[in-house]
Amino acid sequence: MIKISNLHKSYRMGANSLHVLKGIDFNVEEGELVSIMGSSGSGKSTLLNILGMLDEADEGSYFLDGVPIKNLSEKQGAKYRNKFLGFIFQSFNLIGYKSALDNVALPLYYQGIGRSERIDRAMSYLEKVGLAQWASHLPNELSGGQKQRVAIARALASDPKVLLADEPTGALDTTTSYEVMDLIQEINDEGRTILVVTHEHDIAQMTKRIVNLKDGLIIEDTVVSQVRALSNV
Ligand code: ADP
Ligand code: MG
Repeated sequence: MIKISNLHKSYRMGANSLHVLKGIDFNVEEGELVSIMGSSGSGKSTLLNILGMLDEADEGSYFLDGVPIKNLSEKQGAKYRNKFLGFIFQSFNLIGYKSALDNVALPLYYQGIGRSERIDRAMSYLEKVGLAQWASHLPNELSGGQKQRVAIARALASDPKVLLADEPTGALDTTTSYEVMDLIQEINDEGRTILVVTHEHDIAQMTKRIVNLKDGLIIEDTVVSQVRALSNV
């Protein structure tokens, strides 16, 4: 599903340059649930943003579902991003003046789907994350965990092949974090490929594979032998 090789990325700041990714190679197969671990500043978000086509690498190759992601026009890039990828962020990134339902329906609007189908589909995803009764509520009427569930429903609404989550539990308390990871595990059980960036070990243990980043390189890539479930955290 994802194949990257020899990925490099530097940020230029005036005369200086910060080499953040120094030759990353890794593949993710369809249906995997992978965490990308590493301390703050190790390049996790940089890597995820490149995988999410929000940023471009300086060097190396990236294939997403067999499509080479390089030198795409803005329009092509946006098309692939909408078709292939769903995003979940630490800060939820919900639109404050729109209801939970309208937040979830928004990506469908951008896909040109008609209003009644948008509402139906958005509602079914809200049901899936257990928030059907909260459909008409605004984000500021929801708890952090509920907001993240809405964001997950929104990410699923366009039926992406891959979900990319950058510290999805970073703003949540421990219990709520585990509940959100439980939902992510459920979505993965249905076969969807998911990458989760985290710096928390217990969260990584709720994925099936941990990729460890340090100083811009993958230093470890291990299968989790006993994946933690909500019932035994
Ligand atoms: P992580 O997500 O692991 O905390 P990041 O990928 O956000 O790490 O950042 C890696 C390094 O790159 C950090 O030192 C950060 O300050 C720097 N960095 C990230 N984004 C930018 C940017 N847009 N411009 C300059 N430096 C950046
Ligand atoms: Mg980050």
